[in-house]
Order: sequence, then structure tokens, then C-alpha cells
Amino acid sequence: MLLDYSREQLKEKIVGLGFPVFRANQLFDALQSAKKIKEITNLPKSLLEKIEDDYPSFEIIKKLSADDGTIKYVFKLNDGNTIESVLLHYKYGNTICVSTQVGCRMGCKFCASSLNGLIRNLSCGEILEQVLYVNKDQGGDTKKRAITNVVLMGMGEPLDNYENVSQFLKLVSNEDGINISQRNITLSTCGIVPYIYKLADDGFAVTLTISLHAVTDEKRKEFMPIAKTYKISEIIEACKYYFNKTKRRISFEYSLISGKNDSNKDADDLVKLLKGLPCHVNVIALNNVPERKLMGVPVNKAYAFVDRLVKGGLSATKRRTMGENIGGACGQLRASLKSEGE
Ligand code: SAH
Repeated sequence: MLLDYSREQLKEKIVGLGFPVFRANQLFDALQSAKKIKEITNLPKSLLEKIEDDYPSFEIIKKLSADDGTIKYVFKLNDGNTIESVLLHYKYGNTICVSTQVGCRMGCKFCASSLNGLIRNLSCGEILEQVLYVNKDQGGDTKKRAITNVVLMGMGEPLDNYENVSQFLKLVSNEDGINISQRNITLSTCGIVPYIYKLADDGFAVTLTISLHAVTDEKRKEFMPIAKTYKISEIIEACKYYFNKTKRRISFEYSLISGKNDSNKDADDLVKLLKGLPCHVNVIALNNVPERKLMGVPVNKAYAFVDRLVKGGLSATKRRTMGENIGGACGQLRASLKSEGE
């Protein structure tokens, strides 16, 4: 797919097809502007015919708006699978939450994304497409962006698709394209430890978010199968390494699950675990996923939990739940298979 290519790679391809370099530049700009192939007027038909099959045929098939202004986009991919992205409006700008896989194989017991397992990885261009298309839909272009921040918190586990995700990070933060600074990008992971080290070693400096949700390995194993592979202590070590390399404060996600991880002792243990680490804790109440048995907690309980963390000396806030009534909140994004139709 042509959005997988950097400008240099595209030049090679187009010159290889027998066209001059400036045609590659025109094509690159059309791709970055999320133009449909039919909307390209400055390229010869002979070239368009040659690249047609490789041109993104991404389509927004549904757009759902929530009362709080959050918009969930459902996209159809070239192969008929669908993915979801969410646009969130904040005071400081517009954030897009992108998916990195169709489905997910991490199997977290509270999340809708893994209900059908992993269907496939998204290519770097397919992750980028979500940003470019929503930017265009919101009236932006590559120079005047309508999107200021990107979070890799949609469907999928970004570090389970490292090659494509790291290439995406390069493309999306490239001056040549939409140029969203890595400071404005957040990558969230359930904690695939070796790739946290790799991300730091490869020179990335995005904000790293760890989906923690429990303070002991035993408890974490109850709802996050990845906890059987990597211990919390190993994740914390990797976070320290990431911080030392990047100087970026680490974020932790902590979704409160009724009766499971929401006690005063849990809060106090969380303080002990994270104290001294340059980090911030985002607390939310678990969002409802009908197929899942686990329940969230009332808002006042979430505030009390945050209070206890803050009194203990942590930087912590309760995150607003956005887009819940359109199935667009954390953990509610899901794939629909091509066989299921729409
Ligand atoms: N796989 C990555 C990226 C997904 S980000 C990760 O695990 O971090 C989505 C975030 O929402 C994660 O923190 C995830 O643990 C959390 N989440 C999943 N289901 C949820 C639910 N039902 N309610 C609240 N948060 C949920």
C-alpha cells in the first residue's frame, strides 16, 4: 500500500516504473492529503493505472458523534476488515486515538478489542491513514493540521506490531508529512518488556503509557494474560530505562474494577510501587463492555482513589470518560470481520 512508503521510497518506486521524480513528489503529497485516487488531477492516467491497486481505498463507513463531542470513525480497509479510531476534543487541541491491529491477541478480560482475537496487524500506512483521513475530515491538511496529538490507544497492542508501529511513528512525525511531534504522541502498552527497551534504543521519545491495572502479579494475571510472561517489577525496570534514555515521564493507566483493584490497600500499594519514579497515573472507572463480566466503580469512588494516590505523593488524576455512549471509550473499540458485514 502506497502510504507505507516514505517520500524517498516512493521516488524509487515511481522512477522504477519509468516516471520522473517530480511525479513521485506529486503522488506523495496527494497521499499525505488523504486524496482519493479519483481526486488526483495532476498525474498522468498511465501512472495512475499502474498504481491503482496499491492506492489506499480506505473508506469512512460510519461516523458516530457522542454528546461530549467525541467522534468514533469506523473505517473499511482494502481487504474488507474494519477498524475504529476516535477523535477527542480537549482544550489544548484534538487528539486522535488510532488502532494498530485488527483485533488483538493480548486477551485482557475487560477489553472489547480482543473478543475475536488477533485478525491481523495493520501496516504502517494503515495506521497513518487514520490520522490523515480524520485530519482531512476535520478540515485540516498537512500544513494546517486539525489534529494536534496522536495516541496509540485504539484497538490492538502497539508493541505486538513493532515494525509497523515504529515505521508509523517515523512517518507521522516526519517534516515531510503531517509532522506531529513525538512529544505529542503517546504509545500505550500492556507491557511487552523487550519492546519497551527497543523503543528507547531505537531513539524514539514518545510518551510511554503502561496499562497497569493491578499492583501485584497475582492480581494482574486474573485479568491480563501478559502478566504471566512479564512481571510488574520487570515492567518498572524497563520504564526506568525508558525514562533515562528519553527523559519522558511515564504514564500509568489504572482502570478501577469493582471489588478487584479498587481498595484503599490497592491505592497504598500503588503508591509504594511507583513512588520515586517520574510518572503520572491516569485513573478511570472501567467502561462497560457488554460481553465482559467485570464492572466499573462509581465516579466518587474513582475520585477517592485518586485522592489517596495524591496524598501518598503520586501525580494522579481521574481521566474523563469520553465517548462511552457511542462505544468509543477506552476498551470499547472492536473489529468487525469482513464476514460479519456491517
Ligand atoms: N494494548 C494497548 C493499547 C490499548 S490502550 C494497552 O493495553 O495499553 C486502551 C486502554 O484502555 C488500555 O489502558 C486498556 O487497558 C484500557 N481498557 C481496556 N478495556 C477497558 C475498559 N473496559 N474500561 C477502561 N479501560 C479499558
